[in-house]
Amino acid sequence: MIDERLEQIYQDVVQRNPAEREFHQAVREVLDSLGPVLAKRPELAERKIIERICEPERQIIFRVVWQDDCGAVRVNRGFRVQFNSALGPYKGGLRFHPSVYLGIIKFLGFEQIFKNALTGMPIGGAKGGSDFDPKGHSDDEVMRFCQSFMTELYRHLGEYRDVPAGDIGVGGREIGYLFGQYKRIANEYESGVLTGKGLGWGGSLVRKEATGYGAVFFADDMLKVRNDTLEGKTCVVSGAGNVAIYTIEKLQQLGAKVVACSDSNGYVYDECGIDLDLLKQVKEVERLRIDAYAERHGNGARYVPAGNIWEIPCQVAMPSATQNEINGRDAATLVKNGCIAVCEGANMPTTPEGIRVFQDAKVAYGLGKAANAGGVATSALEMQQNASRDSWTFEYTEARLATIMREIHRTCYETAGEYGAPGNYVLGANIAGFLRVADAMDAFGLV
Ligand code: GLU
Repeated sequence: MIDERLEQIYQDVVQRNPAEREFHQAVREVLDSLGPVLAKRPELAERKIIERICEPERQIIFRVVWQDDCGAVRVNRGFRVQFNSALGPYKGGLRFHPSVYLGIIKFLGFEQIFKNALTGMPIGGAKGGSDFDPKGHSDDEVMRFCQSFMTELYRHLGEYRDVPAGDIGVGGREIGYLFGQYKRIANEYESGVLTGKGLGWGGSLVRKEATGYGAVFFADDMLKVRNDTLEGKTCVVSGAGNVAIYTIEKLQQLGAKVVACSDSNGYVYDECGIDLDLLKQVKEVERLRIDAYAERHGNGARYVPAGNIWEIPCQVAMPSATQNEINGRDAATLVKNGCIAVCEGANMPTTPEGIRVFQDAKVAYGLGKAANAGGVATSALEMQQNASRDSWTFEYTEARLATIMREIHRTCYETAGEYGAPGNYVLGANIAGFLRVADAMDAFGLV
């Protein structure tokens, strides 16, 4: 870190947010990019804009009590961190996963501020969730949990206040239960209070596909500026959830070959290319683990329990599982095996050491907060449709998504160039996202 003031801000963040490792990591990455901005815009330092951005506007932590199918009482913890509302109502997903604690929600909320700013849509940054694990619970249990969770959260939400959506562990089923309970308590059909809704009740076409499709559009643009294309490329996509599935779908549509995907137990390797219909059947319809994919496939697909997916040689890697899934060693293995582009569908999937390896090796590296912004951008399109009581066609909505992603890519690329670091999407995304939020905050005075 070049600037002493930034180092001091980082040390203060670590001190007042002890033991929130992922949050520290996300802050460090942004602050490491902001030296050249402070040099050009000293007034932002004077008015302590960076210190203010690192402090959430509001943090809500609450008890969630529910009853399981055997009648036993269960207690979980719920979170909503309303990080920044300079550009619009708080916006960001809910994550239900046993690893969730305040440090995870704050890293996600912090990233969301800049990601949402990059989309150019009028949305602030937030994130929420719970340490509840929907895996292994019946639909009825998930419903009761969601109802209890929303019974507290609803008072903090609203179309103009805070609009959650899904993330890991929160998909169409959970959004349905959450929306049902909100509607019941508020006694209003407020469509714009949640996004990722079902198509029959206010949802948007393309929202389900948006994060994966958007990440592939970003990867496509990164290759284009290097006079290359995705066509014919061998790809590895980690994860097997919503982001991974639609990343694979768009990669295949553009003529790339995806040879592997994974879940937290292991990976499947399919030399002939992943059979997407089978993957959707196993994951979306039957909610099984991916070993079932290999079992049913019969024809050459291999399941490797506890295997490291980044050891599979590929030209394009799209981490779409979770934070810190690629460390320095994995990054070095990818580079050694000929990987030329890494584009992140997940949030912060590469450790700082991994990022350094990719940048030193001149790999095209598209960080999550830019590359995976298509999900939240399409959430904002869903909000637009709800506000106008309209619904758009698949083609129109996908075209809007594609335009937004190309614009984000261009912004990051050009900003990196302007600040003397051509091709550095980390710098470009952090600076461009930061400046949009900072300028709005500065206009509002000391609030
Ligand atoms: N959870 C997604 C993300 O990380 C989407 C959030 C949203 O649609 O509000 O950006």
